[in-house]
Amino acid sequence: MSPMLCSSFVFAILAFARSLSAEVITRDVAIIGGGATGTYAAISLKDQGKSIVIVERKGVLGGHTATYHDPATGTPINYGLQVYYDDDQSRAFFARLNITPGQGTFPNNKTPLYIDFNDGAPILGYSVPTIGDDYIRELHKYPYIENGIELPDPVPEDLLLSWEKYLEKFNLSDEAIATYSRPAVAGDLTKMLALYVFNNLNTVQLEEELNGKAIANANGDFAELYRNALKELGSDVLLNSTVVSGERGSKPSEGVKLCVKTPEGEKQIVAKQLIFAAPPVLDNLDVLGLDKRESDLFSKFSGGFYYTGVVTNLGLPTDHSYVNRAQHTPWHVATLPGTVMFNPTSVEGTYYYWYTSLEGMSQQQVESSTRDTLKLLQRSVNGSNINAEPNFVAYNSHTPLHPTADADSIRAGVYRDYYGIQGYRNTWYTGSLLVTGSPQLWNITSQLLPKIIAASEQ
Ligand SMILES: Cc1cc2nc3c(=O)[nH]c(=O)nc-3n(C[C@H](O)[C@H](O)[C@H](O)COP(=O)(O)OP(=O)(O)OC[C@H]3O[C@@H](n4cnc5c(N)ncnc54)[C@H](O)[C@@H]3O)c2cc1C
Repeated sequence: MSPMLCSSFVFAILAFARSLSAEVITRDVAIIGGGATGTYAAISLKDQGKSIVIVERKGVLGGHTATYHDPATGTPINYGLQVYYDDDQSRAFFARLNITPGQGTFPNNKTPLYIDFNDGAPILGYSVPTIGDDYIRELHKYPYIENGIELPDPVPEDLLLSWEKYLEKFNLSDEAIATYSRPAVAGDLTKMLALYVFNNLNTVQLEEELNGKAIANANGDFAELYRNALKELGSDVLLNSTVVSGERGSKPSEGVKLCVKTPEGEKQIVAKQLIFAAPPVLDNLDVLGLDKRESDLFSKFSGGFYYTGVVTNLGLPTDHSYVNRAQHTPWHVATLPGTVMFNPTSVEGTYYYWYTSLEGMSQQQVESSTRDTLKLLQRSVNGSNINAEPNFVAYNSHTPLHPTADADSIRAGVYRDYYGIQGYRNTWYTGSLLVTGSPQLWNITSQLLPKIIAASEQ
């Protein structure tokens, strides 16, 4: 490979001079993204005697885990991830990071008020049935999308129907309401391909929700898992850091070189293999200098727009959650963009909210729109205080969430190509492209690691 260039092509000479003085970090494996899968990969590789470094864009590890601590009481409020699937892998990872497990429960959502957040009208007589046998029967038709997306060829056309068309074709009316009532879906669920609904709301998710097969930190502080991981990994994690350029060889012996912008200045990483554990969309991957095969593949994926936050002083009665439903759409599916719901927390008067949109939004736009919704609800819900001014105390962007591809790309084999590109140019991909829940992703990641280790030893 040519010498490392620690900046854009235009400034190649300058960059080369700088690169001579930049600190060089030499490792077996470099990992981009320190969320659920990147952190899991780092700890597991370290335990297997491999040296690693994580490059994480944010100031913390943990990705979609978002925990706010109430300043008065110190109570942790989780406004991103809510529970983990209770399996051996999750328990082992908890134990590895000294986390005491407790029963995972979904937040108190027992007294929801269903309201059209566009005009404040209550949706009278609306209730949400539990996901039932009709859905489970359909789900079991497609076992190959339960733990990844390993599709047959040709791909069953039913899976490529939009969810509203699938429900219509198989006459699943109660199931429609139940599935449309799930909050952690970015964008318009009616237009989502059936493939992604089944992949997301799979047997594991149902066991969590219906049978309580879920665990969480006993102390309620979900961020603790990732804080402990950070303590363990120490200076092997570069926080608030991004890759600005990269070179990857075509043979294992040629390895990977990355130039990374960190708060302490530029650093070079020289590694044998690279794990890409951030969302694999072009915006994130472009810096690696993609070739045609890579850019053709990853240009097919895009993530959803999802935001979460914590708000106090809502001015609404505190004995309810408030859930967005539209008055005049089929199944009362909420219109976008908008706040999905406001859920009460164990701190009286403090709520967390989720928000989704069909396009990217800034924190200011999300909070301003959410504030407008709260002012509308204050005017519509009996017992509200219309003078209360909502106070936004925490925020997290989860965008781009769970990248997906369109029906034509799936028919043409985008997932076959994704599996096929593993290890190409010393680069391996893990993360929420294949399934949504963290424990399933830890499992998928652990199955990939022996191949990465073998490649790093060539
Ligand atoms: C609101 C919400 C609630 C959820 N609830 C649950 C739940 O209860 N249970 C469950 O199992 N799953 C839940 N999930 C899903 C789960 O959190 C994700 O599927 C899982 O975190 C995906 O892991 P990941 O490693 O692929 O991505 P992430 O955890 O998102 O990690 C990706 C990391 O890459 C970093 N990154 C992004 N771009 C770059 C870049 N260019 N350079 C460097 N770093 C970068 C990000 O900051 C992030 O830390 C939830 C998701 C959301 C959004």
